[in-house]
Amino acid sequence: MADIIELLPDSIANQIAAGEVIQRPSSAVKELLENAVDANATEIKLIITEAGKTLVSVIDNGKGMSETDARMAFERHATSKIKKIDDLFSIRTMGFRGEALASIAAVAQVELKTKKQEDELGTYIEIENSIVKKQEPCACNVGTTISMKNLFFNVPARKNFLKSNASEMKHIVEEFIRVAMAFPEIHFSLVSNGQQVFHLDAGTFKQRIVQILGTNYNAKLVMVKEQTDYMNIYGFVGKPEAAKKTRGDQYFFVNNRFIKSAYLNHAVANAFENMIAKDSYPSYVLFIDLDPAQIDINVHPTKQEIKFEDEKIIYAFVQAAVKHALAQFSIAPSLDFTLNPEIQNLDAVNKPFTTEKKELTASGNLYKTFTGKHQAHKIEPNEKSELKHWKDFFTNKEQYNSISNPTENVLLQTLPKFSNTYIQLHNTYILTSNNSGFMLVHQQHAHERILYEKYIAQSHSTQPTVQKILFPVTIELATPDAILLEDLLPDIIALGYQIEPFGNNTFIIQGTPADVIQGNEKNSIELLLEQFKHFSTDIKYSKREKLIRCISRQQAIKTGTALSQNEMQTLLEHLFQCTTPNVTPSGNPTYIEFKEDYLDRMFGKI
Ligand code: ADP
Ligand code: MG
Repeated sequence: MADIIELLPDSIANQIAAGEVIQRPSSAVKELLENAVDANATEIKLIITEAGKTLVSVIDNGKGMSETDARMAFERHATSKIKKIDDLFSIRTMGFRGEALASIAAVAQVELKTKKQEDELGTYIEIENSIVKKQEPCACNVGTTISMKNLFFNVPARKNFLKSNASEMKHIVEEFIRVAMAFPEIHFSLVSNGQQVFHLDAGTFKQRIVQILGTNYNAKLVMVKEQTDYMNIYGFVGKPEAAKKTRGDQYFFVNNRFIKSAYLNHAVANAFENMIAKDSYPSYVLFIDLDPAQIDINVHPTKQEIKFEDEKIIYAFVQAAVKHALAQFSIAPSLDFTLNPEIQNLDAVNKPFTTEKKELTASGNLYKTFTGKHQAHKIEPNEKSELKHWKDFFTNKEQYNSISNPTENVLLQTLPKFSNTYIQLHNTYILTSNNSGFMLVHQQHAHERILYEKYIAQSHSTQPTVQKILFPVTIELATPDAILLEDLLPDIIALGYQIEPFGNNTFIIQGTPADVIQGNEKNSIELLLEQFKHFSTDIKYSKREKLIRCISRQQAIKTGTALSQNEMQTLLEHLFQCTTPNVTPSGNPTYIEFKEDYLDRMFGKI
């Protein structure tokens, strides 16, 4: 039998290896910016066209490379940053794996121009598909310019995986911010398609943060600074009133490297406990410096996750430092509950449900019957099988009174006639009966279903119904959120929002869908972006579907809201006009029926 194993040609092996390091234009941005930082540049320019798909160029005034180094830099595992394995434990540079340039050269067309201070001439190299096309001396400034053109030109399958320009640009801005934030002494700029997106002069940490996150942060930052022999922590946390409905402005850096850590994020959130609403996120930019031997940064190809030698100490330290900062600036003790809108929004504050009321409801037999374990007859969250079920429930009832037009939707004509009084239990359930039993409707779930179908219909119509705002509201977002909003704008507008970009990450909200409560426009957009982000890994749904699900959930009447007889009536009428009234879009039941024969059986009659 013939042998079948062959060694992959270098070019293919390189392309495969590159996949780990260069997944999208923003990965190249990160690597190239980090290289410029490592070269001690004081000025770094990032130039992008078409969200990096056609060009990512980084120009630095750092130390440059010699002719030999310039050629070597593109070899895999070629690095000037470590020499022996022990060096891994004392890394202070951003790079050390020697893979980035090799990976970039394997999947794009690259041009490099570089010159050292002491050299008269620089070196120009053109390389594509890992092959050097041209190398010659050139006249250029001290420093390095690397241009990556036509990413994945030779790997169409990977190219097809790239997202929309707005989405790729969002990633690029994220990476840019993560590097720029950590090095305020370096001047950074970002130009995209000829337009300046960032121009960050060298300055202090605080200046840099405000430059990036927006001037409205200026008065809202509290300094964090603790030093011990083991580690230092410094940076800023936003005052509780700067907390956001979106998780956007949260940055952790360890030895100047941006890292993602749910664990450390939890430590900060914990320090803010009881100071901000449960559904809000504190803003923070925190830098931890510690002996590189205490961390392992080599656990992930893009180095965004790291391992701490002792995680628990770091957690305790971060939490204590943030608490201390908040207390020192007298934020914790002097919290003014009447003034802080975030606090006012806390469930416990804005949903008065007196103990007296609670006891009254809880002691009623009705309530006891409805508590969890008695719900043996719960409707299965299966959209199809239960679709028409509610109609059977009302088979022997009269036609719905207000329907007189025979051409109306058939569904409307068979609407159940509900009892004239509705009982609201626990400010959550609506109890309604007819002569064949009764039904318990979950107000929030029901409303979510109603809104969902309404927005779906809305999104199919050419002219969404917009509720104009008397005084347009401006909303300033962090850059990644602004880019996300820009990306979602056509879909958001289709739902009935009227929003216009106003430059500088600012948007003007002039109208909202009819169901959004006036005065709540800004929150509703922030919340929408946040929810969307949580949804966004789900490829099953289109952007618009995700938005509709988010907004329906967001705008639904919440449990704990007292409803009038009229409101309950309207809610039920609308619910049963839905095509799928029995479940929420995510599959939770909207109501539970208690049929007469079931009740009879319960009481031993059958
Ligand atoms: P790493 O950064 O992990 O060492 P890279 O592939 O990113 O690996 O870069 C390889 C080498 O090329 C670096 O170690 C450095 O010596 C050199 N180099 C890359 N970019 C620059 C730059 N902008 N200025 C000077 N030297 C650079
Ligand atoms: Mg590097």
